[in-house]
Amino acid sequence: MKQSLFDVIVVGGGHAGTEAALAAARMGSSVVLVTLKAEAIGTMSCNPAIGGLGKGHLVREIDAMDGVMGRAADAAGIQFRLLNRRKGPAVQGPRAQSDRAIYRGFIQRELISVENLFILEGEVHDLIQQGGAIKGVKLADGSEVFGRSVILTTGTFLRGVIHIGDKRVPGGRFGEDAANGLSLRINDLGLRLGRLKTGTPPRLDGRTINWDVLEEQPGDESPVMFSFMSKSPSIRQISCGITETNPRTHDIIRENLSKSAMYGGHIEGVGPRYCPSIEDKVVRFADKSSHQIFLEPEGLDDHTVYPNGISCSLPESVQHEYVASIRGLESAKILQPAYAIEYDYVDPRCLDHRLAVKGQEGLFFAGQLNGTTGYEEAAAQGLVAGLNAAVFARGEGESVSFSRSDSYIGVMIDDLVTRGVTEPYRMFTSRAEFRLSLRADNADQRLTPLAERIGCISDKRIAFFRAKLEELSAGRNTLESLDYSPKQATQAGISLSEDGKRRTGYELLALPGVAVDQIVRLMPELGVLSPEILQQLKTDATYAHYIERQSRDVARLQKDESWVIPAGFDFDGIAGLSNELKEKLKLVRPETLGQAGRVEGMTPAALTTILARLRKMEKKSA
Ligand code: FAD
Repeated sequence: MKQSLFDVIVVGGGHAGTEAALAAARMGSSVVLVTLKAEAIGTMSCNPAIGGLGKGHLVREIDAMDGVMGRAADAAGIQFRLLNRRKGPAVQGPRAQSDRAIYRGFIQRELISVENLFILEGEVHDLIQQGGAIKGVKLADGSEVFGRSVILTTGTFLRGVIHIGDKRVPGGRFGEDAANGLSLRINDLGLRLGRLKTGTPPRLDGRTINWDVLEEQPGDESPVMFSFMSKSPSIRQISCGITETNPRTHDIIRENLSKSAMYGGHIEGVGPRYCPSIEDKVVRFADKSSHQIFLEPEGLDDHTVYPNGISCSLPESVQHEYVASIRGLESAKILQPAYAIEYDYVDPRCLDHRLAVKGQEGLFFAGQLNGTTGYEEAAAQGLVAGLNAAVFARGEGESVSFSRSDSYIGVMIDDLVTRGVTEPYRMFTSRAEFRLSLRADNADQRLTPLAERIGCISDKRIAFFRAKLEELSAGRNTLESLDYSPKQATQAGISLSEDGKRRTGYELLALPGVAVDQIVRLMPELGVLSPEILQQLKTDATYAHYIERQSRDVARLQKDESWVIPAGFDFDGIAGLSNELKEKLKLVRPETLGQAGRVEGMTPAALTTILARLRKMEKKSA
């Protein structure tokens, strides 16, 4: 690595760091990714799975921007399941269990194949700053790397402490050291740090599990891929096992609660409410006599099994006892103990929508460091920071922003920078107000045009996307070219009331219960379209009416977002705002009226007062 000045320096090779480095490189930046262990790049720290409800949407959106996570998950997928398959497409979530080693290998090969991207092994200890602007990073060995922008994606490593019962060991992940120097620097920058925690279950040796007594959970018969470019799984597919805890397991846990790091008072950080440890489940849901456990193999050539649902921070001896109390696990050998980890996070309200630190030119934060949990949330932030760090380094061009009305990425970024976090933030479909239009199936239609405009996408994907759009448009034109009476529709097997109303093929397709093949029978010329395109047309038609109804709310949001609040806006000078609200507004420093409206505690009256001031300022400058 001869280069001495990079456009973008990415610190950390986790899910945020790798997506950030690749995104910046796709934008044409020279990038160096500095990470503690090169061989650990792309490691899945906890469960060997990608996607799920809300999270699957994020992966599709990353893919629509030509990111890597979806393709890696497809290549490594050993079991694909579309969650909520029986519900509507808006709340369905693709999920895949991954072969850990294949996933990591895919990510590493992808990084190595990029000409303008370099990998450097080392611990970043400090930032190099000049006059408030970031100039590079200092490594623990004293060497320096210079860059126009720096993205920190250090995950759970900042002042990370691993807890197993009353044993406490500094560490960023099992077997990996913590990184403490950077926490001090972040503190010096005046940014607020907090403590969060998360946990992972013990890993079991699959050869010692009695699979014969367990229920089997196979994958879907017709697997749904993450990437719009993937067709089908490329490796052997496997089943998981299902077992459950029982009253005996719960007794063991209850009797040993005082030895748990979490319940013994050793951990101050807040954990993910939606991903509770087994101690949490036993205490919080005391009336339940069992909790389900999914036994997920970690790879095709790996005997390690991840027992999803029993993370804990109990001493190892207690872990052995409670695992052995579970059906099928009576003789199971523990390969790696469960542990909890406590780490520093940064209050994301110090960031703007680019994930840039306010008031620190060229410094960006992404991933778990910002108070989120999950690979997908981290990768999506990496994408946003990577694209914007590249724009910043170039010194020209508009920042790349995602909004609540165009993507789950936009929802997450806005939630983080406007509301901050009180517990590890994870994505859910319920967080999106426009979820009927923000579907996993149309992420490419929503975002690939943006990717093309800003230039972060390969020619191959552009050609692929355009061909798809052409097919969709041809299909839609055909569907709208003819209309049918209820009698004609009924003759084709579509049952309709005789209301005398003629309907186009598209309107018929939108009706609940009308299947694609019924429409093809009515309009045989549609038979030239692929089954995927026909299904997409069905989904688009189904939601068209709802989306039209939602468009007024989207327009209102966009109007509010178009009122820009200048950086130095004087909230103190506005009479009629409570002191508490003023403090919150000064902390968040909303960039638009829309964002101000979402600040905790905002009232319609206060928002009108701010709008009045903005109008006055506009008049003055006109
Ligand atoms: P990470 O994947 O942690 O990557 C951080 C990277 O930064 C690493 O490559 C590290 O080497 C590098 N690094 C750190 N400091 C430095 C430095 N100073 N210099 C150079 N490089 C540095 N998520 C869930 O969704 N559900 C769960 O149940 C869950 N449980 C978890 C349990 C545990 C024990 C852990 C550790 C994580 C868990 N997670 C869980 C979280 C999930 O692993 C993270 O959300 C995700 O990996 C975050 O990605 P990231 O890129 O932000 O950070």
